[in-house]
Amino acid sequence: MNAIATLTPADLKAQFPGLAGGWHYLDTAATAQKPQAVIDATVRAMGADYATVHRGVYARSADMTLAFEAAREKVADLIGAPAQELVFTRGATEAINLVAHSYPNKGRVLLSTLEHHSNIVPWQLAGWQVDVCPLTADGQIDLDAAEAMLTREHTMVAFAHVSNVLGSVLDARRAADLAHAVGAKLLLDGCQAVPRLGIDVAALGCDFYAFSAHKLYGPTGIGALWGRSELLAAMPPWQGGGAMIDRVTFAGTTYAPPPQRFEAGTPAIIEAIGFGAAADYVRAIGLDAIHAHETALVAELRTALRARNDVTLFGPEESAGIVSFALDGVHPHDLGTILDEEGVAIRAGHHCAQPLMEHLGVPATARASFGLYSDQADIAALLRGIERTRRIFG
Ligand code: PMP
Repeated sequence: MNAIATLTPADLKAQFPGLAGGWHYLDTAATAQKPQAVIDATVRAMGADYATVHRGVYARSADMTLAFEAAREKVADLIGAPAQELVFTRGATEAINLVAHSYPNKGRVLLSTLEHHSNIVPWQLAGWQVDVCPLTADGQIDLDAAEAMLTREHTMVAFAHVSNVLGSVLDARRAADLAHAVGAKLLLDGCQAVPRLGIDVAALGCDFYAFSAHKLYGPTGIGALWGRSELLAAMPPWQGGGAMIDRVTFAGTTYAPPPQRFEAGTPAIIEAIGFGAAADYVRAIGLDAIHAHETALVAELRTALRARNDVTLFGPEESAGIVSFALDGVHPHDLGTILDEEGVAIRAGHHCAQPLMEHLGVPATARASFGLYSDQADIAALLRGIERTRRIFG
């Protein structure tokens, strides 16, 4: 079923209670609205189906454990990975922190200028030597520069698969080949890619993949780290507690194998069920259909903004679902405030990418980002709001 093709935009939007009232939500890159199917799954998990997982001897707990592990399978399957290689985390941020802290061979890490703070600060905190790969003129990670910069001292390359500011899509396969050529591993920050592209970690050739449920139409408070089994097996736990152990004595403790080794404490049970429901939802619509839909909207918006002659567009033409721009003489915050009066929600700010703002030479950008429910009416409302802002600011 291709719901985008078969449903009218209004029908599709009606599946998302958060969009009621004709709100033009263009901040899906920050967090996606939730379809009723995901909300229903979490309500059932918190209500009639609720029990703990993994420890209960009663049937309800056994059923919940099966549902929890089924959710892991659905999420893993969405990125072409086996369930035992998928660790539930609090989000992409925690997933990257986990690798930065627990990866045994801490050396130099190659990041890029466009990274989100959550793919910069964890490496700094964990004591890695950080190198920064520059961007091409149109805002892609410059892989020719990466090739020239990489050395045998690099044990990790960590790049955004899709930039949350520019929408640039990384040539992940080439990045993996470059990393592997010097003996490094490739971690991809897939936060913006998982909701927009069909992901197959085996085809990408990466070694770790981090993402968050809430950007994939699922709940907040949960995300995932995928890692190759031999790499996860070589990583020590980074938090201790229940559920991550094999045997505990005061003389010493042995640990469970991955993924449980990295999931100390009672997990986010309800959120995991919702994450699984979100994976089901996007799979039913089809990532190819979502990608084609968002790509068409990006092209339409970029064309309309370029025609104005008072807008600077950032990022490459071929960007995934995200358009960053500046309206001449208007601070993005002022634009965002006026658009809000028009029922249009965009993001204005540094988007947790301050080094990228410095590179672009701006304190902030305005960002419109699309989801599977976005449509031409949202673009038209944005353009009307920009026109009104122009009249106000002259
Ligand atoms: N990386 C990218 C590219 C992002 O867009 C975000 C969220 N804005 C993150 C990482 C962090 O995700 P979370 O806050 O869900 O952990």
